[in-house]
Amino acid sequence: MGEKGILYLVATPIGNLEDITLRALRILKEVDIIAAEDTRQTLKLLNHYGIKKTLTSYYEHNKAEKGNYLIQQLLEGKNVAIVSDAGSPGISDPGEDMVKLAIQNGIEVTMVPGPTAAIMGLVLSGLPAGRFVFEGFLPVNKRMRKERIRLLKNEVRTIVFYEAPHKLIYTLKDLYEELGNRKIVLARELTKKFEEIVRCTLEEAIEKYSAEPPKGEFVLIVEGMDEKEVQEDKRQAWNEISLREHLEFYIKQGMSKKEAMKKIAEDRGISKREIYKNLIN
Ligand code: SAM
Repeated sequence: MGEKGILYLVATPIGNLEDITLRALRILKEVDIIAAEDTRQTLKLLNHYGIKKTLTSYYEHNKAEKGNYLIQQLLEGKNVAIVSDAGSPGISDPGEDMVKLAIQNGIEVTMVPGPTAAIMGLVLSGLPAGRFVFEGFLPVNKRMRKERIRLLKNEVRTIVFYEAPHKLIYTLKDLYEELGNRKIVLARELTKKFEEIVRCTLEEAIEKYSAEPPKGEFVLIVEGMDEKEVQEDKRQAWNEISLREHLEFYIKQGMSKKEAMKKIAEDRGISKREIYKNLIN
């Protein structure tokens, strides 16, 4: 067998057709096959730039079978580009599976980077962007969605979600019930004509979108828990056991008494002397 082909994950615009790199256009022209999540959407882009190519579809419901076909083509030496509906393939779309499959088959994978709705929303949110977690889409099932949100309650980093407009109000209500009235930024229709950034609280967002049904695509950016509040919660949890139990807990983990005292002082926000006095009594 000759040389294997290369798999290119090519980022495309998230709304504005001008948001495409020169390299992306060149790669799309040069590859043997373009596999698109939404062929109609990609065709619009290719027509806009005068690129004539036959497209094949690669999406959630044919990814297993089509993935194997594309791997076969790559093994035979063809170069393949994966393009998602919008933005960076691999972020909340089946591009991720194609990368795994290529790695398993020893095929070189590279990316032509470009827009990602999550990053644009995060940057424009004005919330801390130095540390964040990306949660993608929450589960559709209400119980599972609430469970997932509950796991994020003590997250201090900014949290980024994707959400479809028809599910937005349910998600906002669940976020409010589980996280309290945090700040939220709703980044809507990014790079498009009706781009809008709404910065408010969860309560205000629920009020707004109950009155006017949401339209378009959304990135939700929610503030993380206040670090001081996390510390306070942890302290309260430790205060539910006695100092002696707290000491035994660390000693059982193999700490010396001195190390354990230091750790307890940190956990409870009190001095070592105070702990010592208390234990003696
Ligand atoms: N791979 C894409 C990326 O890099 O952003 C995301 C794919 S995911 C299937 C689609 C979701 O991304 C939408 O439901 C929405 O939450 C978000 N999204 C995509 N384009 C957007 C836009 N122009 N404005 C706001 N959100 C967008």
